[in-house]
Amino acid sequence: MIPFLDLKSPYVELNSEINEAISRVLNSGWYIGGVEVEEFESEYAKFCEAKYSVGVANGLDALHLGLLALGVGPGDEVIVPSNTYIATWLAVNQCGAIPVPVEPIEGTFNINPALIENAISNKTKVILPVHLYGQPADIDPIIEIAKKYGLYVLEDGAQSHGARYKGRRIGSHGDAVAWSFYPGKNLGAMGDGGAITTNNADIAQKVNVLRNYGSRHKYINEVRGFNSRLDPLQAAILRVKLTHLDSWNGRRKKIAKEYLSSITNAELIMPIVPDWADPAWHLFVICHPRRDEFQKYLTKMGVATLIHYPIPPHLQDAYSELNNLKGKLPLAESMAHRVLSLPIGPHLGDRDVAKVIQDVNNELS
Ligand SMILES: *Cc1c(COP(=O)(O)O)cnc(C)c1O
Repeated sequence: MIPFLDLKSPYVELNSEINEAISRVLNSGWYIGGVEVEEFESEYAKFCEAKYSVGVANGLDALHLGLLALGVGPGDEVIVPSNTYIATWLAVNQCGAIPVPVEPIEGTFNINPALIENAISNKTKVILPVHLYGQPADIDPIIEIAKKYGLYVLEDGAQSHGARYKGRRIGSHGDAVAWSFYPGKNLGAMGDGGAITTNNADIAQKVNVLRNYGSRHKYINEVRGFNSRLDPLQAAILRVKLTHLDSWNGRRKKIAKEYLSSITNAELIMPIVPDWADPAWHLFVICHPRRDEFQKYLTKMGVATLIHYPIPPHLQDAYSELNNLKGKLPLAESMAHRVLSLPIGPHLGDRDVAKVIQDVNNELS
């Protein structure tokens, strides 16, 4: 079976570096915050071409604390993609605010900037685009709309570590970017982790205070904060992995190029990459009119695939109050039936890639 993902292979590859990093933390006697977290933050900010990076406990908290830092509160509205992972929406609800879904562009899977203005009301505070599957969303027109209406832009970068938009890394186009270092992401920890990057010192400072009980100085609490700190063990591991991210992403890009040039199965709709986009290829997602059948066929051939995502947020039981939206977000709903993620990642060898292409193309024969 060609595995969809292999979380162990980066550890096998970097075994001694990672062991050394872990042992450095264990021997330091310093287990919350400290040098490893600070060093990772500055290295990650540099990688993202952003001025500041603030580590937090996970990607959902990065979104939540990012929204709070932008002043989002009860009754506010936040514009979100209709076809994202549910975390993007949940972070909005955690602020007491309301997610307002906007449909994607077919082909890029990312929020359609042309539909955003229609979704803006006098309660809208933030536009929250997701760089879904590692493909950058069309961020310039989104920022333009935000400026016109006095809104903030928070980007969900959880799938886009290393991606570029018009030559510049995702990390500081909007007001802030929320990151996840969940193990399966392009830059993954060996546990949970997350961060905010921004060029805005005020936003960075607010997240810095919110993640640590609302406190900048011990026992002085400025606001009612949270406990959402990046673990120094994870920070030390992330520092090692960050130095390999460009090379791992390069391998993803090479595989994506092979898929794009060699997959000829006419049933498939392949991802469209605009000329300004340099995706991180977190996932390689195709559309197939008979997706479930196609997935079964690939499983039989020994190619593991996954569905991102089988149920859009507005149809989940968690959002039962939004079930009246059923049928009103037709792209999100039809994509949920058609999308399929092919294996992609540095764990795949050339022969694996060739086999995936061959099996995909042989579907109809
Ligand atoms: C993974 C992910 C998150 C959440 O990250 P966690 O670290 O698991 O909390 C948020 N948004 C998107 C788009 C994701 O893929």
